[in-house]
Amino acid sequence: MSRKIFIAGNWKMNTTISEAVDLAKAVVEECKARGDVEVAICPPYVSLAAVALTIKDSGVKLGAQDVHWEASGAYTGKVSVDMLKSVGCEYVIIGHSEQRQFFGETDETVNKKVNAVLTGGLKPIICVGELLEERENDFTQKVVEKQIKGAYCGVSAESALRTVIAYEPVWAIGTGKTATPEQAEDVHLFIRNVLEKLYNKDVAQKLVIQYGGSMNPKNAKELLAKPNVDGGLIGGASLKADQFRGVVIPQ
Ligand code: PEP
Repeated sequence: MSRKIFIAGNWKMNTTISEAVDLAKAVVEECKARGDVEVAICPPYVSLAAVALTIKDSGVKLGAQDVHWEASGAYTGKVSVDMLKSVGCEYVIIGHSEQRQFFGETDETVNKKVNAVLTGGLKPIICVGELLEERENDFTQKVVEKQIKGAYCGVSAESALRTVIAYEPVWAIGTGKTATPEQAEDVHLFIRNVLEKLYNKDVAQKLVIQYGGSMNPKNAKELLAKPNVDGGLIGGASLKADQFRGVVIPQ
């Protein structure tokens, strides 16, 4: 089963609008040689409109870093699926560990967001992953299975095919500590087994599972060589176009 490699840049709370436009221009330039790879960039909300114009017709896709599940109303500070659609987003990152850690994200809110995003016609990038302590106590599979089952509650097999999973061990995010290709492959394979039990073989085989956690030009090739690692969700290395290129086009 061949799955298209998908590399997404999560810019987090970095870049002003003009910096975002400059970075987006550079990403388009650096990554244009790899038409066979799906590339997306996820700038902060305030830069989405400007970046959408910058990457128009380039093949690079636009994503947001979060969304609220309600359609509209008195939710100060929140952004809806329709708003993201209207600005040109195709993807939305959901359940990032920083949201879980600092902003009260739970498996339940992840599930509400996933359902809202799918109903609205966008594609969620669903983040799952264990804490260091959980890995050390051999709870990785248990934690990841619970997060996956929570995220997909009420999602049909047909809709599940429009989702992407990012396996991001929390201990590897922004720490410079990457999971070994073997550690990543083990969990990715485990996730496919969970999906097969939840849905069927077709869904399990077709879903793109990205790895995230200090992925960079030095380790991308080895990680992407693993049969169940289908791409990356890139934080730090997505903020410099040449580094991002080194993940999209690993040497
Ligand atoms: C992330 O935030 O999703 C991430 C993987 O960050 P970094 O690449 O910096 O570890």
